[in-house]
Amino acid sequence: MPSKRRILITSALPYINGIKHLGNLAGSMLPADVYARYQRLQGHDVLYICATDEHGTPAELAAQAANVSVQDYCDEQHQIQRDAGDGFSLSYDWFGRSSSEENKKLTQHFAQVLEEKGLIEERVSQQVYSVDDGRFLPDRYVEGTCPHCEYEKARGDQCDNCGRLLDPVDLKNPYSAVSGGTNIEIRDTAHLFLLQSKMQETIREWVEASKDWPQLARSIALKWLDEGLRDRAITRDLKWGVPVLGADGNPRPGFENKVFYVWFDAPVEYIAATEEWAKANGGDWERWWRTDKGAEDVEYVQFMGKDNVAFHTVSFPVTIFGSGEPWKAVDKLKAFNWVTWYGGKFSTSQKRGVFMDQALDLLPADYWRWYLMANAPEGSDAAFTWEGFQASVNSDLANVLGNFVNRITKYTVGKFDGALPATGTPGEDEAWMAAELKASLARISEHYEAMEFRKAAAETRALWAAGNEYLTRAEPWVKYKNDVDAAAVGVRTGLNLVAIFAIIAQPLIPTTAKSILDTLGIPDGNRNWPSADDGNLLDAMPHGMPIQAPPVLFQKIEDAMVEDWTKRFGGEEND
Ligand SMILES: [Zn+2]
Repeated sequence: MPSKRRILITSALPYINGIKHLGNLAGSMLPADVYARYQRLQGHDVLYICATDEHGTPAELAAQAANVSVQDYCDEQHQIQRDAGDGFSLSYDWFGRSSSEENKKLTQHFAQVLEEKGLIEERVSQQVYSVDDGRFLPDRYVEGTCPHCEYEKARGDQCDNCGRLLDPVDLKNPYSAVSGGTNIEIRDTAHLFLLQSKMQETIREWVEASKDWPQLARSIALKWLDEGLRDRAITRDLKWGVPVLGADGNPRPGFENKVFYVWFDAPVEYIAATEEWAKANGGDWERWWRTDKGAEDVEYVQFMGKDNVAFHTVSFPVTIFGSGEPWKAVDKLKAFNWVTWYGGKFSTSQKRGVFMDQALDLLPADYWRWYLMANAPEGSDAAFTWEGFQASVNSDLANVLGNFVNRITKYTVGKFDGALPATGTPGEDEAWMAAELKASLARISEHYEAMEFRKAAAETRALWAAGNEYLTRAEPWVKYKNDVDAAAVGVRTGLNLVAIFAIIAQPLIPTTAKSILDTLGIPDGNRNWPSADDGNLLDAMPHGMPIQAPPVLFQKIEDAMVEDWTKRFGGEEND
């Protein structure tokens, strides 16, 4: 038995505003969940943390549009995202909120120590001020004409037409997104700046020494470093957010109407959410995060889409390394490309793509989990198509796994009185299967350890297929006519395979796997990951134990369903 590891897992925090689509799910939360489940089955000590990212202008504006307070808006949206996560069986140990007291305190703490280290300074900069609204207009609060492409509804932080990042003062013909007022002035105001340029060498040394990062994450981090880290404003003229304090703990003079920028406080929530978890469950959060308090042996793994890599490899490390305090930094970082909708973007307004809540109205979570991980956007972007989804579910789940389980359990009920047969001696076919099993289990583990989810799913399917191949070779149904004992060996081996197939399916399709294992009556303590070196795997279940057949595990996706869903959510014809 390998020694017990302590594995801290975080997935990029979903923004509070709006339900996420399948691509968001596949690019961070789902693979993090699969990885957490796999490592728990290995018997390791796993802590999987996520939270909603609740500050910033989109939340304020959405609350205003809905005519509710930002707090009420976030309360409601947090619950919606929590429910969607539950629906997809995301096994968070804690799903926190970046608006928590814990995050406020910790964000303020980081700002204070960074300032003490000379990494934060006040600078006066020019901001868009609305005379009609009597306030500064940060980011999305101001709209106008894009200086690059002349698009007339560009937002202050980014142009949706050409995609360029903008500074609100660069907009032509600016107007307030709140009141529409065009009485706009550019005024001086002070903000806190994080002096990232001073941390350039520290961050580069750390990135270059981080050997466990996949290529995608590494290359994005180095590209940012090559371009040179720029000092960044970390405060905004907003009410909703973490208040800016002075050294005496009171509101910082001149910053009474400002808060920390959402990009500064959001990653701190990884730590603060662990504190929230500890308060609720009596755990020790510092044991996971402070290397002077026991986190020295923690493996910290982060999951995120490629757009988030820079924040995790550069911005957040500036905060934690800059503090000079012994915080745990990421060890392994897994970044994903995009899941596209037939090669294009998901869009609510254009009815392109399925969002998390809609997906669960169509089919159970396991169908989506399987397809999204079997087609994970790892080497490049991956297009979701109904046709691919249909083929994958019908072939991999319904035919390869579902039929195998049904065929062998039903046969046991019909021909062996619903009891695991005890007679007969294993022969050549069983030896072949044992060798396949041993090699395949080792490969699946390798892929999970390397966080190669596409390969892990493909190898899982390959093992299920080997089980079908075994039944074709062993032919218990043919042998039964002349030699019941010979048939019994095949059925016994097949039933043990059913249990193994369900056990190894737990990270990917947890609900179905549980249903198979429950039907078989496999005790919870026997559901851990099988050891490839265990020579007794194909004869592990007690002889004579009662066997029932589970109900049909997977419904096949018919062409008519694909046609209907294409009409509702878009498909090939929309291109
Ligand atoms: Zn533009």
